[in-house]
Amino acid sequence: MGPARGRAAAAAAGALRSSGGSAAPPRGRSGKRASPRGGAPAAAPAPPPARHLFSDPAEAEALRRNLLAWYDRCKRDLPWRTLAATEPDADRRGYAVWVSEIMLQQTQVATVIDYYNRWMQKWPTLQALAQASLEEVNELWAGLGYYSRGKRLQEAARKVVCELAGRMPRTAEDLQKLLPGVGRYTAGAIASISYGQATGVVDGNVIRVLCRLRCIGADSSSPAVINRLWDMANVLVDRSRPGDFNQALMELGATVCVPKSPLCGECPVKQQCQAWRRVEKELAFASRKLFGKAPPVPDVEDCVGDCPLCPPATEPWDSSAGVTNFPRKAAKKPPRAMRTATCVLERRGRHGAPEYLIVQRPSSGLLAGLWEFPSLPLAQDLQEEKEKEELADHLQAWMGRPVAAKGLQFIGEVIHIFSHIHQTYVVYSLHLDGDVTLDPALSPSRWVTEDEFRASAVSTAMKKVLKAHEKQRRKESSPVKGSKRKRGAKAQGAGRPSPGTQLSLRTFLRAPTGP
Ligand code: SF4
Repeated sequence: MGPARGRAAAAAAGALRSSGGSAAPPRGRSGKRASPRGGAPAAAPAPPPARHLFSDPAEAEALRRNLLAWYDRCKRDLPWRTLAATEPDADRRGYAVWVSEIMLQQTQVATVIDYYNRWMQKWPTLQALAQASLEEVNELWAGLGYYSRGKRLQEAARKVVCELAGRMPRTAEDLQKLLPGVGRYTAGAIASISYGQATGVVDGNVIRVLCRLRCIGADSSSPAVINRLWDMANVLVDRSRPGDFNQALMELGATVCVPKSPLCGECPVKQQCQAWRRVEKELAFASRKLFGKAPPVPDVEDCVGDCPLCPPATEPWDSSAGVTNFPRKAAKKPPRAMRTATCVLERRGRHGAPEYLIVQRPSSGLLAGLWEFPSLPLAQDLQEEKEKEELADHLQAWMGRPVAAKGLQFIGEVIHIFSHIHQTYVVYSLHLDGDVTLDPALSPSRWVTEDEFRASAVSTAMKKVLKAHEKQRRKESSPVKGSKRKRGAKAQGAGRPSPGTQLSLRTFLRAPTGP
């Protein structure tokens, strides 16, 4: 995970645990659960070997001291940190941290800063947010991704105002219990940073740092490992500066102990890091060998026996990877491929400028409540003509007037990657003369100018679609380049694709053959 504070895995595992769900018991290397059968009482699980714990209080204290001193020197200046440190009103302080934590889920710090500042300017208090409409929230959130986060934040703000008399819960337990959308991680972050509760946090950065500090090589997304990490975070957290300690651990993961090339030489806690020590020992061993000195046998082995926290026997320590041997994750499922036909319906507005028709998506599911060009999910491997016919039928049913498939102009294909979906938009356009009466029983819809489109709650993917459409229009109006677009031509013009827009293999392979 990069500087983005990816927290989904930890949050999910934390939610499972705290919602009464039980984590699976640790598995041995055989893959079978170690639950005894028969009449014998179940033995308490054995504590993990000492090398995976902070069992020496002096070592834990040194880690806290070194980490906090480094944080005081090197921490980034971020608007939510300033608010958390200076806002005297406890409810406002909790709200300020809460907003930042929700925005930072799966999103880079650099991206979040501008959104955060605009959000806090528009809704500086819970009361202000509670009065906002979902439309306004979606508009401000547009481009930040995972739109349900903004919606849930607003719902929870309404709950605080209407049911809790505007008072934020003050402990991690109450925050998680009372506020919808607040999981174990977010609750711990708000409680420690805003209210000084000595409770740990585990997000993607903390997982990486702790796994390296204690050489934990078992699947870091498994409930068994996540639960161990939560226990460790709660033991380690500094009692007098819990909020700073938690932020320092995350900051270390975001700026020093990064996924690919960690800066171990600059790390304030390398003396407490097992992974770093292991690499140092291996280097010393190799150098003694090189100079023909009798090398001592290095003490760099994994635990003896069936350790639930060591790397699996089938994937032992790889010397070439160094500290990046940790953490390890089970292979991710590849994203699901989806194709969607989308049509830019265009008409001349009052002053001759183009207007576009947009419709609102359902209030639940992917991109809930956002606006888009009329779109239709397609089956994979559908013939091109069939795709066009299906889209024409869809538009016809919706507009209540005939739409000929041949009237749809193919613009190109635009790809957008969601976290779990590889989405291809097959973009068409259709120019309409006169007004169109839409079936009011269907989704809400409205005509917008280009500026209104950009200010609306539309997804980044739809902005890419409009960009492809505009580029095609410009090409057509150019006296030199203007020509009818062929199926399979690039959506973004003949040069390189615009940043953020990728061309599908299908589009690439179907290069135009005509003049
Ligand atoms: Fe991470 Fe390296 Fe520091 Fe260990 S020494 S915590 S691996 S940056």
